[in-house]
Amino acid sequence: MDIAVFSAKPYDREYLNAANAAHHHRLQYFDVPLDVDTVGLAAGHGAVCIFVNDRADAAVLQALGRGGTKLVALRCTGFNNVDLKAAEDLGIKVVRVVDYSPNSVAEHAVALLMAINRKIHRAYNRTRDFNFSLDSLMGFDLCGKTVAVIGTGKIGRVFSKIMVGFGCDVIGYDRFPSPEFEALGARYALPGEIAERADVISLHCPLTPDTYHIIDADTLSRAKPGALLINTSRGGLIDTEAVIAALRSGQLGGLAIDVYEQEANLFFRDLSDTIITDDILQRLITFPNVIVTGHQAFLTREAVTTICATTLQSVTEFETGRALSNQISAN
Ligand code: NAD
Repeated sequence: MDIAVFSAKPYDREYLNAANAAHHHRLQYFDVPLDVDTVGLAAGHGAVCIFVNDRADAAVLQALGRGGTKLVALRCTGFNNVDLKAAEDLGIKVVRVVDYSPNSVAEHAVALLMAINRKIHRAYNRTRDFNFSLDSLMGFDLCGKTVAVIGTGKIGRVFSKIMVGFGCDVIGYDRFPSPEFEALGARYALPGEIAERADVISLHCPLTPDTYHIIDADTLSRAKPGALLINTSRGGLIDTEAVIAALRSGQLGGLAIDVYEQEANLFFRDLSDTIITDDILQRLITFPNVIVTGHQAFLTREAVTTICATTLQSVTEFETGRALSNQISAN
């Protein structure tokens, strides 16, 4: 099948080409993201393959439909960037990748937590300049602390398992509680207890209308002073301006994020020679107790191998008229 691959990075090409040895699809790579301006590139391709910051809204999907596209294959888990209702109305099927490696994202969340707590980013910069002062590098033992996990799905549970292993008291919140989470030795708690007790809050729920700005000025005002906030899920879960205010007042002790509300125009590119006009991100990056990574939590060999294999398998299922194992729909 002809597949237009948008937002294609060198690692996408390498791993998709390797996975395609088993499928023989015709892959055409485009560096640019899919949006209203670039959708014309997909004309004549039965499938498009997109990533987290490509836009498949109603206008883009209509243009895809006109160009003959019948399948949108997301090479990621989250699908907040696809208008599923519009896709359904147009008869375009949408597939995604679940279960590629929850370990990759959970372990990155742990890396961010460890780094922000123990100030590894600051120590790294200092020692490169032979500054071995320990001033301001004080952290806290994670053992015995309360870690709140918002969203106890696949990634949230792996993160919880690691935190339980560290000796933390893990509490969780989820619209659909899972016995597997409790079997880890963790327990569910109400938002009030989470705000009051959590030394660390880690976000692992999807971005939906319900979870948009789940961390806002109100939740931050009730958080334990000095709490650390980790977000490897989606930027829109956090009201970034409210977080900046909480960092400035000291209410929030630190922030480590792999995702950012306005990342679509910034992430996955080298902008080191560019004047960044996003004042919120500029401000955030000036804080010594903030770490930003550019949506790299999924980026392990294991995860990317599985992502590419699953994506092309879904296209093959579609092409051969088989049931789509990874289809998502509006309902
Ligand atoms: P999952 O579906 O297994 O788990 C998500 C959990 O969130 C579910 O248990 C669900 O019930 C819960 N949830 C839904 N609405 C909620 C709400 N209103 N409040 C609390 N909990 C709610 O998904 P997953 O595989 O664990 O992935 C979680 C998220 O991680 C994805 O949606 C995606 O946004 C993000 N992600 C990020 C990266 C990255 O590279 N940074 C990679 C993969 C996934």
